[in-house]
Amino acid sequence: MRERKFDSYVIEPEKRIPVIHEADVCVVGGSATGVFAAVRAARLGAKVVIVECQNSFGGVATNGLVSLWHTFYDEGRNKQIIAGLSEEVLCRMSEIDYRQGPGSSHFFNPNELKIELDAILKEAGVKIYLHTMYAGLSCDGDRITNIFVENKDGRGAIKAKFFIDATGDGDLCRDLGVESYLNPNVQPPSAVYMMQGTKDDERKREYGIKFNEDVVPPMIQRFGKEFGLEPDWGWDTYIPGIYNIHFRADTHVFNLNCAHADELTEAEIIGREKMRKVVRMMRKYGNADEVYTLVNICSYIGIRDTYHFKTKQRAEHMDLLLGKRYDDAILNGTYDIDVHQADSGIQFMRLNGECTTEYTDGTRVVTNWRKDMGLPTDGPMPTYYSLPFGVLVQEKYENIIAAGRMINATQEAFGALRVMVNLNQIGEAAGVAAYLAVDGNKTVQQLDGVEVARTLSKGGSANLC
Ligand SMILES: Cc1cc2nc3c(=O)[nH]c(=O)nc-3n(C[C@H](O)[C@H](O)[C@H](O)COP(=O)(O)OP(=O)(O)OC[C@H]3O[C@@H](n4cnc5c(N)ncnc54)[C@H](O)[C@@H]3O)c2cc1C
Repeated sequence: MRERKFDSYVIEPEKRIPVIHEADVCVVGGSATGVFAAVRAARLGAKVVIVECQNSFGGVATNGLVSLWHTFYDEGRNKQIIAGLSEEVLCRMSEIDYRQGPGSSHFFNPNELKIELDAILKEAGVKIYLHTMYAGLSCDGDRITNIFVENKDGRGAIKAKFFIDATGDGDLCRDLGVESYLNPNVQPPSAVYMMQGTKDDERKREYGIKFNEDVVPPMIQRFGKEFGLEPDWGWDTYIPGIYNIHFRADTHVFNLNCAHADELTEAEIIGREKMRKVVRMMRKYGNADEVYTLVNICSYIGIRDTYHFKTKQRAEHMDLLLGKRYDDAILNGTYDIDVHQADSGIQFMRLNGECTTEYTDGTRVVTNWRKDMGLPTDGPMPTYYSLPFGVLVQEKYENIIAAGRMINATQEAFGALRVMVNLNQIGEAAGVAAYLAVDGNKTVQQLDGVEVARTLSKGGSANLC
């Protein structure tokens, strides 16, 4: 087990713990990844429980304020490659709260998504525990028998036949001692906030910033030092139905591992300090007639990357970039390989060969990775990538799947797979697999990936195989 060393230890006295719930499938963590896992398993007939430590579902998409899912279409925007619950929940939103934007990305009001996620869970008959923190587990051999949770009732146990670890950091996998690793370049977290004040034409003209570019990052380059801000890059986005307020993600917190309590605490505080500094900078140097105000702060810092857990198959970036196909495909995607370097900028690699590096000083270098690898740069190119079920199957424990950003992937493959339209599909696959394992009395290792893919398609996922 990955255990931190402390100077002293105490022994916790033995205690009788009430079994607060029993289910077929227990999902821990309630971003859309976890919610979609729970709904898929429940719709197939499993008795499902979901545990979430925050007061609402949606993870980074809601409580992290990142209310943007990428396109459901392939590169040419000709063929729909993603459907399932991602499409279903957005279609349930009103025209005011959800819009499709340039490049077919999906923009939504995060508060409305919270309510939709409550609703689909309730409709599917899933037992819900909010404000409930996963706190440990028990095993019988290679099977998890129950987890422990902590909430307002104290410590309780939840028994289930199958568990889905959708905690992002892989808290259950950590406690099981599944082999883990950090990528060489751990992508930094960002503390996201909503800021009032988007009228910036005057400043764009004055500083020579293109009309379609966000004004804050170049202003951080120019004036940030005066406010104690490091050179940073980032972006903002409008929120449907909300006027003159954008969510902003230009507050990376560097060189802290948010899977550890003390570093997570430090990251939250640094992130909030940075938000205020950006607002103060805009008050001094932004449009004179604009009122820049911090409207909302994420209820937890957006964590991009911590530990990854080994499984039978690792997701390889060349398989993604070359559009490899699988009989047991559980996911389709197009989102670029997008690696936020810990200190030097951001790099995008696209299926068509384009490779763009944007440095923190604002310079941009464009190359072609296909050319660099001696591959043809014209002619037909893959228009989307897929992922096989094997990437979700670990070697030892029989009744658990980890679904989320703890995925077993190369640093570059992770840079593409980590976005929500992809992880949402992984959640759906985990839910279907959990149901099939319980129904067929099988271990996760005995499951047929092709059957998982077929069952996913029957439940509304775009044609996967
Ligand atoms: C700033 C930022 C911008 C991004 N931009 C985009 C974007 O534009 N589009 C996009 O698609 N992706 C984007 N991403 C990536 C994406 O948001 C994340 O990779 C994705 O949300 C991770 O999903 P997850 O389900 O693995 O984890 P999370 O969304 O972190 O969900 C984990 C859930 O588990 C809960 N949890 C954790 N531990 C416990 C516990 N012990 N007990 C109970 N509950 C627990 C958490 O509260 C949370 O609800 C961005 C990420 C960041 C940080």
